[in-house]
Order: sequence, then structure tokens, then C-alpha cells
Amino acid sequence: MSVQHRLCILGSTGSVGVSTLDVVARHPDRFSVHALSAYSRIEALAEQAARHAARVVIVPDDDAHARFKAAWPAGRPLPEIRQGTQALADTAADPEVTAVMAAIVGAAGLPGALAAARAGKRVLLANKEALVAAGSLFMQAVRESGAELLPIDSEHNAIFQCLPQSADRARAPANPAEGVRRLLLTASGGPFRRTALDQLESVTPDQACAHPNWRMGRKISVDSATMLNKGLEVIEAHWLFSMPMERIQVVVHPQSVVHSMVEYLDGSILAQLGQPDMRTPIAYGLGYPDRIDGGVGLLELARLGRLDFETPDLVRFPCLRLSFDALGQGQGACIALNAANEVAVDGFLRGRIRYTQIPSVIEHCLDDSVARGAQTPSSLAEILDLDARTRRVAAGFCDAR
Ligand code: NAD
Ligand code: MG
Repeated sequence: MSVQHRLCILGSTGSVGVSTLDVVARHPDRFSVHALSAYSRIEALAEQAARHAARVVIVPDDDAHARFKAAWPAGRPLPEIRQGTQALADTAADPEVTAVMAAIVGAAGLPGALAAARAGKRVLLANKEALVAAGSLFMQAVRESGAELLPIDSEHNAIFQCLPQSADRARAPANPAEGVRRLLLTASGGPFRRTALDQLESVTPDQACAHPNWRMGRKISVDSATMLNKGLEVIEAHWLFSMPMERIQVVVHPQSVVHSMVEYLDGSILAQLGQPDMRTPIAYGLGYPDRIDGGVGLLELARLGRLDFETPDLVRFPCLRLSFDALGQGQGACIALNAANEVAVDGFLRGRIRYTQIPSVIEHCLDDSVARGAQTPSSLAEILDLDARTRRVAAGFCDAR
């Protein structure tokens, strides 16, 4: 078989990036690595680039460039080293690349993900913040370029697998799939599902990052604790599957075995189950439409014994309510929601604000966004402007705490 995809992995040193390279390494006949990018952990990037024979690497600045060279094994030809955000977008659109894994965390991943969509690549989308910030622009780019969009977020990957099968379903849908009543997004409830409410004020970053089922980067781990992650995923599902928010329901499922479900008009509910291991959705997206081995262990249902479901508690998880509010308010509010959360989570991880102040920062920024009137940005520049503005408002609010 000839190589099926030449990959660009944006954010290759992160949790999703590392899992992607793990799957790729199992199929040298199918995949080759063209480009890798990292923002920190530059020595790990050099090790990855050497092991996978990457031809291009992208680093943020001169310092990282020098660190990459210093870490490079002597005697091996250096890959081409590119620098900065524009290089992320240019490389994602490079004609040499056929598939782009968008696995940078935060809105920082948007320019690269959007460039991949505009260039008509197979886009493996883990970077949900890109879709939250730029939903309509991003989906329009996919439609116009004929890109293939494969959701990597486990819930959306599950829904994608449970939707009606058709040859072109990786192309952006303009309407919700026929016969579908609702999308049921499962959520683990995170580490604080049962913590006494009066103790939440004093939880530490390490406690918030100790997810019961998934090993992930620190930002998404905190988002899972607040359930803002599920809020971002509701917005993500809205765009990916053209589904109005009234038809997207969140169900708490502590075992994280049912990754999400599609409910049909006849009462059938189709679910996708598996281990909580990102290599499953990654292998699905890479191999699509084939099924390939991702190295994931068996799920022994009898050993598991039971699957539980409950309704999310919006008092415990105000960030989920705020996400629905933002989606109802429109694109400008979704940008504010995401940017405010990025600043708040960073502040919490650095010990500058308390866990329970995260929703306060978001609420303040959503109020600010409403006060300025509904805005629907129509270009990447306008989105990045609104994002930057919200970050200033959020940082000011955090400083005043
Ligand atoms: P991570 O923090 O482990 O890795 C992030 C990657 O992005 C790293 O390679 C880092 O160097 C790079 N990066 C960080 N800031 C950057 C910047 N400003 N510019 C360019 N590159 C930057 O994150 P992760 O857990 O792998 O998550 C990545 C994305 O995938 C997130 O959007 C997350 O929501 C999504 N996702 C992750 C998981 C998971 O299991 N980890 C599951 C579903 C979705
Ligand atoms: Mg998810």
C-alpha cells in the first residue's frame, strides 16, 4: 500500500499529539510525518522529529529555535525549522501535507486549524476552542474547500460514528442529519462531582487536574472539573452537526465508557463505547473510512459491571450554564466565553485566583460582551481582535481580585 496520509501535527508534544504519534508509529505503511509543532518542551519535539523523520518543525521563537538545534542528534540532517503563528498556518496548508491534526490547546490553535480547513485537507480536530471561537467561519471554510472534517474530541467522534452512514459525511453538513431527535453528550463530572460545595473554594490545581478517567493537558483537565469543557463541547457539537442547542443534552456518566449517543425519532439510541483512551478517536480519524489498530486495550463489560447516568447539577457546575447562555447569545459571546476561560484557568493554575472564581471571570466577560452589543465577527482578524479584547477584560478582573 502507498502512504495514505502525510501528516502535519500541530501541538505534537501535548497529550493528544503524543497519542497521535503513538498511533502513527503502528502504521508506517499508511502514514508519514511531514511536520510537527510545539510551543514548549522543545527537547521533546526534537526527539519526536528525529524518531519520526519529520521534514519540518515549527517553534515559537528564536530561543526555541536555538534549543531545538542544541537538542538535535549530531550527524543527522536537521529538519527545516520554521517559526511563529504564520508558519503554523502556512505549514498546515502546505501542498506536501494531506492531513492536519489540530491539537494545539486554546484559541492559539485557530489560525493553523482554519488554514488546514481552507486548504481542503483532512482536518483531525481536537482543538475544540478553534470551533468555539470561529464556528461559522470554520464550517464555511470546510464546505467551500471540500475539506474532510473528522472530530477527534471523543464525544464528537462517538456521535460521528453513530450518525447515519453516507459517503460524504466527513464534509460539513448544512442541515442536521435526518431522523435524529437529539445528541446526548456524556460527561464524567470530573474530580469534584461529589465534593462538598463549600470545599470547592479551596481546591488546588493538582486536585482539579486529577481527572478520574482521562490523562490530559492541564487546561482541559481544569475545564473538565468545572464542566466548562462540556460547555465548549455543546458549542462544538452545534457547529459540527448543525444541531440547535435545544437538541443537545448533557448527561453525566462517571465511568466515561459511553463516549456519547445519538437519539433517533423512532426512540432508538445509538452509543459508541470504549476505553477512555484518545487513541480510539485518533485511529478512527486517521484511518477513516478504514478501521485501524490504535493500541487500545479491550473493554471488559462484565468486569465493569455497571454504567451510571445522572443529570448535571448546574449549581455545582455554573460554567455549563454560562456556556449555554453564550451559545444562545451568539458568536461574539462564544469568543468571550472561551477567551475569558483561558485567562481564568491560567490564573487558577498559577495560584492567582481561586477555583470558584473561574465562573465569575467568565460571567464578567460575558456581561461585558452583551453590554457592547451582539457582534458576529466575519473574519479571522475580527475574531482574534475580540479574543484579545476579552483577554484584557478578564486579566483586569483577575488583577482586581
Ligand atoms: P496539551 O497542553 O497537553 O498540549 C498542547 C499542545 O499545544 C502542546 O504541543 C503545546 O506545545 C502546544 N501549544 C500550547 N500553547 C500553544 C501556543 N500558544 N501556540 C502554539 N502551540 C501551543 O493539551 P492536550 O490535552 O493535548 O489538548 C490539545 C487540544 O485537544 C485541546 O484543544 C483540548 O481541548 C483537545 N482535546 C484534548 C483531549 C485529551 O485527551 N487531552 C481530549 C479531547 C480534546
Ligand atoms: Mg471531550
